[in-house]
Amino acid sequence: MRADGVFIAVEVDDRAAADRELANKLTEVCPVDIYAQRGDGTLEIVERNLDECVLCRLCLDASPDGAVKVIKRYDNEAVLV
Ligand code: SF4
Repeated sequence: MRADGVFIAVEVDDRAAADRELANKLTEVCPVDIYAQRGDGTLEIVERNLDECVLCRLCLDASPDGAVKVIKRYDNEAVLV
């Protein structure tokens, strides 16, 4: 799944997005509430908050390598590493 703001996009691989435990962790760590859980516990990306991203990398640290990508649309789609 991918959701785009004006400056930031977030892409989460579908298997990771279906993992309720990971969805819960992402929901907890993001300081600006870009992640939430749907009623069934799977991941939701909160589009209206995307551009609030502070590039803190907490979501990257909380997830398996490559499962979550934070993409800087304002910088030629550069991926936060
Ligand atoms: S880098 Fe930080 S602010 Fe941006 S989506 Fe990840 S946890 Fe949220």
